[in-house]
Amino acid sequence: MKTLLPTSTAGSLPKPSWLAQPETLWSPWKLKDQELTEGKQDALRLSLYDQLQAGIDIVSDGEQTRQHFVTTFIEQLSGVDFEKRETVRIRDRYDASVPSVVSDVDRPQSVFVEDAKFLRQQTDKPIKWALPGPMTMVDTLYDDHYRSREKLAWEFARILNEEARELEAAGVNIIQFDEPAFNVFFDEVNDWGIAALERAAEGLNCETAVHICYGYGIKANTDWKKTLGSEWKQYERAFPKLQSSSIDIISLECHNSRVPMELIELIRGKKVMVGAIDVASDTIETPEAVADTLRMALQFVDAEKLYPSTNCGMAPLSRRVARGKLNALSSGAQIIRKELFG
Ligand SMILES: [Zn+2]
Repeated sequence: MKTLLPTSTAGSLPKPSWLAQPETLWSPWKLKDQELTEGKQDALRLSLYDQLQAGIDIVSDGEQTRQHFVTTFIEQLSGVDFEKRETVRIRDRYDASVPSVVSDVDRPQSVFVEDAKFLRQQTDKPIKWALPGPMTMVDTLYDDHYRSREKLAWEFARILNEEARELEAAGVNIIQFDEPAFNVFFDEVNDWGIAALERAAEGLNCETAVHICYGYGIKANTDWKKTLGSEWKQYERAFPKLQSSSIDIISLECHNSRVPMELIELIRGKKVMVGAIDVASDTIETPEAVADTLRMALQFVDAEKLYPSTNCGMAPLSRRVARGKLNALSSGAQIIRKELFG
């Protein structure tokens, strides 16, 4: 990748209204069978088109192929019973009715590989594919079988590694693991969370990333953020071990959040996807605001390791707002490129 300050998004982009109810998480598909397959592919093409029009350098499927960033992956695994539901506390924040692990978990067939091949056919740009991380997967289930979060995480890490190797073979350039749980369970992160993540990424030759954030702009998350005080130092707990991990890129939330920018110093040496777009607000950033965030980050990240990005996924936003934010990200990165490289 020769592009300086390559832009990307952290995750999802809005779905078109003919595929699923927009501005909603977990919104059910409006199509089925062959129509659904084609509908997802059409939505992927549109999402890619929006990214290309905005000048985004590392593109994705905009998560048009999944209903939810964790559940859609788990649905394809054996050992999890979606009929047998229990209420658990997710990320120590909100209660949800979740499926149960009832026997050994496994991946009977690949989950996203055909979708990734389809995206690969549509563009020559570098592509990034997101998978849930092992700890975040564990945290969305009731486990009646292993009865150990760590044991279950290692099983998921093995399964994720199988999927990741196939995604790499399909031409994916960056495989990203989403681990919002890393901002909550600090002791587990350091005991086994990062080790399980490294297991999921083991043996990959493509680049690997981990996305850690404060979540979508949904009420449970914005309410939680209000309890965190004036400075959010959660990253401080996981960063030292992540710095020495085998993961290449760390994707963070920065813009409009109360994360002290200097925490990035703790991962000096890693490539950093700096969130310069607030996904919890409908206000479209100005290119100058994006540039300001990137300029601040440059105090702690070497320019060749800075990847301008969004704080998190944009699925809950309108398509108009999301497109505006993609454009702002691109223009903001361009301002900094000019400053740095002329
Ligand atoms: Zn996120």
